[in-house]
Amino acid sequence: MRNLFISYQEKNDTLAFAADELASHLNAAAGDFHAVCLSDAAAPEGSGDFSILLRTDCNMGEAAQNDAYAISITQSGGDICGVNSRSVLLGVYAYLRKLGFRFLLPGHTYIPADLTAGQLSCQLEKTASFFHRGVCIEGADSLENVLSFIDWLPKLGYNSFFLQFREPYIFLERWYSHTMNPSLKKEALTEEFLADCYRQMEDAISLRSLAYHAVGHGWTCEAVGFPSVGWVRAQKSCPPSVRPLLAKVGGTRDFIDGIPLNTNLCYTNPVVTDRFCDTVLSYIEEHPGVDYLHIWLADEVNHICECEACQKLSFTDQYVHLLNELDRRMTEKNIDCHLVFLLYQELLYPPVTETLRNPERFTLMFAPISRTFRSSYPKETETVPLPPYRLNQMELPTTLAENLSYLREWQKQFHGDSFVYDYPLGRAHYGDFGYVGVSRVISGDIAQLHSLGLNGYISCQELRAFLPNGLPNYIMGHLLFDESQNFEDLVTEYFDAAYGGEHAAFARSCLTELSALSDCDYFNGKGERKNERAKKNYSQMQEKLQQMSAALTKDSRLTETLPPIHRFFLKLLDYHFGYVIHLSKALLSLADGDKTLADRQFREFHSYICGHEQDFQPYLDVYRITEVSTKYTGFSLDQK
Ligand SMILES: [Zn+2]
Repeated sequence: MRNLFISYQEKNDTLAFAADELASHLNAAAGDFHAVCLSDAAAPEGSGDFSILLRTDCNMGEAAQNDAYAISITQSGGDICGVNSRSVLLGVYAYLRKLGFRFLLPGHTYIPADLTAGQLSCQLEKTASFFHRGVCIEGADSLENVLSFIDWLPKLGYNSFFLQFREPYIFLERWYSHTMNPSLKKEALTEEFLADCYRQMEDAISLRSLAYHAVGHGWTCEAVGFPSVGWVRAQKSCPPSVRPLLAKVGGTRDFIDGIPLNTNLCYTNPVVTDRFCDTVLSYIEEHPGVDYLHIWLADEVNHICECEACQKLSFTDQYVHLLNELDRRMTEKNIDCHLVFLLYQELLYPPVTETLRNPERFTLMFAPISRTFRSSYPKETETVPLPPYRLNQMELPTTLAENLSYLREWQKQFHGDSFVYDYPLGRAHYGDFGYVGVSRVISGDIAQLHSLGLNGYISCQELRAFLPNGLPNYIMGHLLFDESQNFEDLVTEYFDAAYGGEHAAFARSCLTELSALSDCDYFNGKGERKNERAKKNYSQMQEKLQQMSAALTKDSRLTETLPPIHRFFLKLLDYHFGYVIHLSKALLSLADGDKTLADRQFREFHSYICGHEQDFQPYLDVYRITEVSTKYTGFSLDQK
């Protein structure tokens, strides 16, 4: 048995982690060698031994602003070199993929068998196609869900993770309280437990040298002394001392529907500017690990201050003024954290008089939240004229052409760093029962990023979006790193590794068919509920599902002869068929106009997934599918 010594050139937690990852993965597959991690670069010499060195001193030329690695390994060893330590880790996972490893889901990796030393050779040099490649936390998540997702990210080529809010409390709270799953008992959350969760998440991001994005919404309430725990009503009413700081809407200054997070401030009031900036600066001092701090305003359209002073300046000008002031104070204190500003709702309109004075500080984030998911960003769209802005009467753009026209207007005056923040796996995916369709839309979107002048993509999404499988995130990560990869090849690679042999063809044909009969937009509440086309499709889906499910159940090989990884994915597929049989039945009644029957069938679906949540917890977010179905699709859980 030959020894393969793995060492790294400098003392660095990410390189040490990369070396451990390489050794443990190789040992899980090794036939005639054994990998050993060394803590320094000097490998002991033995007969037939060889070594791989991890290093960060490679010169990848001008493109080195993006993550990049060079792998040069022959039968007598070699090195994996990155332009930074994160790139070395990405290089390690890319090397493992070359050897046949497939990172199919968090915690579920396809491992090739009996790898020999003779098969370890690899020459590969890659530079990431885009700078920003990440995921933002949503849904209801346990600590383990978050940690295993962070662990998965670099395996697919991602480099960023976004923990929303001051702390990602709301996402943990939803899970541990089992919101919308009455069959599970609420678990108590202590301050100590929560603090430990946040620390472990930050440590996991830091260990992998991922770019750490933070906050976003919430500054507006924190600045006036209300905690930004989520989209919830304030525990107490707004005190008289705070009222003058809030936006004046319809003659009154108060929280919108009692919800501080949705309430804008009176941004031309200098006291508001001071309190806003102080809140941000003290956050940065407490969170030195944050790389990209998101500065967003209230999360509600058409509640902008109508006071005399605010009416003189457009909303976006008020925003840019605030950002400039923040930048000035950060520069004074020598703080180099990046600030991310958001284009959505009223802020889609570019500023009229103000400009960002220090563009290097800022990253533009374009969030087309109201877009369709039936198709990708188009190759070429005409620029449509923006409708004139009318205070507190804005209608959100729905077409991609409209959304992109706002972006183009902004790009005329901001030429700095940017990315798109998009939602195919936050809501839309629940409408696609095969995940092949939504994966194709993601792939088409990524193909247009360069032509849209955007330098990456952050996916705002449920972390448990894995029913029937993890194809959408797999496609997204690999294409964001290397956009030249072919969509169909990636799908083949995924299905072969997940389902194996002829089951791959079976799973692919079933899921492709289910995608073709699905409708993300209908599920997300777009269009009339009584709908002939949807009715026809869901009815056809019902028939096909019976055949698919029967074919899978009849297959006796599922129980014993298959490797565990394939058995796992087929078991998940079997559960998925049951899930879709229940849900498409309710959708069929809804599209047929029988709301009472639809609601009864939806309640049956809901108790089915609630009863199974513990068995399939990492793959289906019961909270979120229930919320989307009742808030957007049109189902109700109430017994009449
Ligand atoms: Zn005002």
